[in-house]
Amino acid sequence: MRTDMYINGKWTGGSATFPTHNPATGEVIAELPAATPSDVDAAVGAAADAFAEWAAMLPAQRARLLLKVADLLEQRADEFARLETTDQGQPLAISAGFSVPNAVEHFRYYAGWVTKITGLTAPLSVPDVDYRTRREPLGVCGLITPWNFPLMILVWKLAPALATGNTVVIKPAEQTPLTTLLLAEVLEQAGIPAGVVNVVTGGPEVGKALVRHPKIAKISFTGSTAVGREIAAEAGRALKKVSLELGGKAPSIIAADADIDAVIEGNLMSGLLNSGQVCAAATRFYVDRERSDEFAEKMAGAAGSMTLGSGLDETAQLGPVVSLEQLEQIDSYVRIGKEEGAQLLAGGSRADGELAGGYFYRPTVFGNVTQDMRIAREEIFGPVLTVLPYDDPEELAVRANDTDYGLAAYIWSRDIGTANRLAHQVKAGTVWINMPPLLDAGAAWGGMKSSGLGREMGWEAIEAFTEVKSIWTSLA
Ligand code: NAD
Repeated sequence: MRTDMYINGKWTGGSATFPTHNPATGEVIAELPAATPSDVDAAVGAAADAFAEWAAMLPAQRARLLLKVADLLEQRADEFARLETTDQGQPLAISAGFSVPNAVEHFRYYAGWVTKITGLTAPLSVPDVDYRTRREPLGVCGLITPWNFPLMILVWKLAPALATGNTVVIKPAEQTPLTTLLLAEVLEQAGIPAGVVNVVTGGPEVGKALVRHPKIAKISFTGSTAVGREIAAEAGRALKKVSLELGGKAPSIIAADADIDAVIEGNLMSGLLNSGQVCAAATRFYVDRERSDEFAEKMAGAAGSMTLGSGLDETAQLGPVVSLEQLEQIDSYVRIGKEEGAQLLAGGSRADGELAGGYFYRPTVFGNVTQDMRIAREEIFGPVLTVLPYDDPEELAVRANDTDYGLAAYIWSRDIGTANRLAHQVKAGTVWINMPPLLDAGAAWGGMKSSGLGREMGWEAIEAFTEVKSIWTSLA
């Protein structure tokens, strides 16, 4: 385990520290340095100094380094998965089966792009000129990450940033910094030159110092919509580039013809993966009124029978939520739901008994939820599902879109024409039809409306970490 910051190729402590907890037990795992403004300045300075050489490295050589990172990360996959589970809470089935392999694949995918980032030539209507474009890196990028998938979401940013020749300063979430620091060790081992990747640890103040730093060219942020707005405002004043992956309140539309037994499993996964701490989590289930009681009861039965436990215990289907603060926020929304008159069908309380020391919340299902209730409008970011009956399929797109968010949506129907028509109508960055939420490095990812700006993954992330230069040459 690494518990120091990584600045200019050196492991650096600090005088003030903060703790990170194991959410399954509440115990402190480690104390980490709280970066000072001068640490942030040193990290950004190191990244600025390393930029010219990194950006000029031959593409084949940069690609090889990223492939080496992928190989080393894959060799240490078990260690990364156990550390992620210990610090974040997600069951090993998620950390070992999804988070770490996804991070490995992102490094490989963007290693592939390094040698294929092309510009274009265009036939301008100007005599005697040759015209072409180049894609160039931006400079020093600040990568600010959240606590729900600490390693994987970091790599969504880091792999394309490095592939395109940028250098970076990373600020992991204060709740879950450990796999980010371990990744810095892997980057060092792989031979990524000193200064190309730096990690500063600490809370929001450290993130703010990074956003404000004059040598930062771009901020790539994943986190809450409220903080995203602040960052966009600050970056806007300084005309820095910004990419934002923010909150969500994804609808799952279950058409009248759907086979309810068959869709329960996919919807449980969409709603309760990582204890609902997923920005794309399906949390608003729109079900034909004739069948909504049946759906709600079946969801409640299936959710209520899930096994809670430490993520390190392989029989656990749901781990703890990340922190006591998050647990209290979830509980307060459940109280609001009851006060609003929604029908509590499962869960609704913190787990007790053997699990009382950790931050475990019972998977919760509310039936008879209406569109105006806060539990149907606000992001809870926990294991709380709401079932909203509908009467007329024609109202579905309007109701699904009646939210500030627009990250993801799910549609379940045997009628593929209807499903695709709805997919076009829903304002969301990603729509999954008849399937749970899957991600791939090749598929663009990001939100519409208040769910974000820009896209990660795919070619879109190459665009997000580069800018286009036009070069004209006189042929006269
Ligand atoms: P958060 O916004 O509080 O914090 C995210 C990160 O930003 C942390 O590293 C934090 O220290 C830092 N930060 C906080 N205030 C800052 C400021 N003013 N300036 C700069 N940095 C600052 O969010 P969180 O609690 O870590 O994560 C939960 C939220 O993130 C949820 O709302 C969720 O929907 C969203 N999320 C979105 C995605 C996505 O892909 N769209 C993915 C994961 C999480």
